[in-house]
Amino acid sequence: MEHNHRAIVNAVREGTALSRIDLSRSSNLSLATAKRVVDELLERGMLEEGEALRGPGRGRKASALRLGSRYGFSVGADVQPDSLRLTGLAFDGTVIYRRELSPDTDDRDSLQGLLVAELRRALADSSAASRGSLLGIGVGIAGLVDAREGVVLYCPGLPGWENAPLASTLGECFGVEVLVDDAVRCMALAEKRHGAARGLGTFLYLYIGSGVGSGIVLDNRIYRGTNGVSGEFGHITVKEDGPLCTCGNKGCLEAVVSARAILERARELVAAGVHSTLGADTAGSPDQALSLEGIYQAALRGDKLATMLVAEAEESIGIGVADLINIFDPGTVVLAGEVIETFHGLILEGIQKIVRRRALHVISQRTVIMKGAFETNIASLGAATLVIEQILGNEVLNL
Ligand SMILES: [Zn+2]
Repeated sequence: MEHNHRAIVNAVREGTALSRIDLSRSSNLSLATAKRVVDELLERGMLEEGEALRGPGRGRKASALRLGSRYGFSVGADVQPDSLRLTGLAFDGTVIYRRELSPDTDDRDSLQGLLVAELRRALADSSAASRGSLLGIGVGIAGLVDAREGVVLYCPGLPGWENAPLASTLGECFGVEVLVDDAVRCMALAEKRHGAARGLGTFLYLYIGSGVGSGIVLDNRIYRGTNGVSGEFGHITVKEDGPLCTCGNKGCLEAVVSARAILERARELVAAGVHSTLGADTAGSPDQALSLEGIYQAALRGDKLATMLVAEAEESIGIGVADLINIFDPGTVVLAGEVIETFHGLILEGIQKIVRRRALHVISQRTVIMKGAFETNIASLGAATLVIEQILGNEVLNL
């Protein structure tokens, strides 16, 4: 996409300028050029005329421009070991399709077949809702991904996906460009475009749920690293002799604070005889239905074991965040994932305190630590957003 066109669409998209006069100023174009570019974008359907702008100095003809609602749509999918989610996203940012299901298989061929079938369904429904055409497909997956080649390298919870050329396989099926990326990076992009990190050029997105990962956004780009696997926040060591991690190391953050790790530690302590209301039956065995929510509620009631579990998670996450802040000075840290969402009433302030205690004062006092804007998994929204970014020629993906 041409530079001037991109500048104008992005200014409208970010809401920083809406009239032709404002757009010419914000993109450093002459008014005549801005008007010509706007006319071409209206012709293409990327922009639409909106309502009349009012206010001093506005000509009678000044009208707000907005993104074209019929320009087209993208579909994003999020492939996790226990769930498949899909989002249809119109070019103007409206969500037009949403679906979530729990596949009963982890066999790669069956799962890929299901993904294709669900994409077809999402495309048909989104197409009917948008009255526009398909712009592309994005897929977020829980694992290591070579986003430049669209190849899944390794997924700890999804056996058989090693070196799967997912982008080309789906591209042949659907005849459009397919982008594949790590699910946590997709989530970071969704927060940047639609959520808590809107308008921020630099921030860290830290996901603490079934796994632990991060999206590093530096100067409006997702930082990918030399091998495309940057941001493996879950595998920094926080306990020298801690539990064994799936990566083979001991005491990784993921082995200590992932949802599964917290539940395992709770069960172990109850089984070892630590008194707690979490040991619900008379033999003192852990409640079979033990959940993060159960631990949170018990901690609110003053249960000592539950309180300790929350404090331990807080400490380990706080140490990890303090280290990252010292390295990146990101200004904003967005925390998300099941552990943060469930515990946040107890944990967020604690993490902030630990970071203030451990990170360099001059950095920590200027860093905002906040919870993500979305309650549920947003990787499919982020995957759909990847496609729109790519079309607009934004280098946010850093592919
Ligand atoms: Zn590890």
